[in-house]
Amino acid sequence: MKIEFNKISRLEQNLVLKQGLIKVDGTFCRVSNNLLKVQVHIDGNIKIICSRCNEEYKELINEEVDLLISNGIYKDDNSKDAVIECINGIIDFDELIKDEISSIQSDYHMCTKCTDINSIYEKEF
Ligand SMILES: [Zn+2]
Repeated sequence: MKIEFNKISRLEQNLVLKQGLIKVDGTFCRVSNNLLKVQVHIDGNIKIICSRCNEEYKELINEEVDLLISNGIYKDDNSKDAVIECINGIIDFDELIKDEISSIQSDYHMCTKCTDINSIYEKEF
């Protein structure tokens, strides 16, 4: 789903997306002239690579994600919030969610096997 930044109003609008086994629902609205707030709930199975044994496995995620998106380069250096810059004036929600999911995937993850090995290890030593 794509939407032009300039067409987004200050009233909250619903956002519902599906990407494979992942469901996304939430809202978005404009919070200032150049800033858009997106609040979504991401829910579903994603493929994760175990950081310990490199095996791929599926993990059920259930995450609340808040995003701020600026129209063009974001200039306010005082803000501590991470702001995503939208350069071409068009918000592509599918891409945004894809990026969020890959950032979840790139976190440190351990499969259940490795988690079990770790807990045995902790008990014995
Ligand atoms: Zn593992």
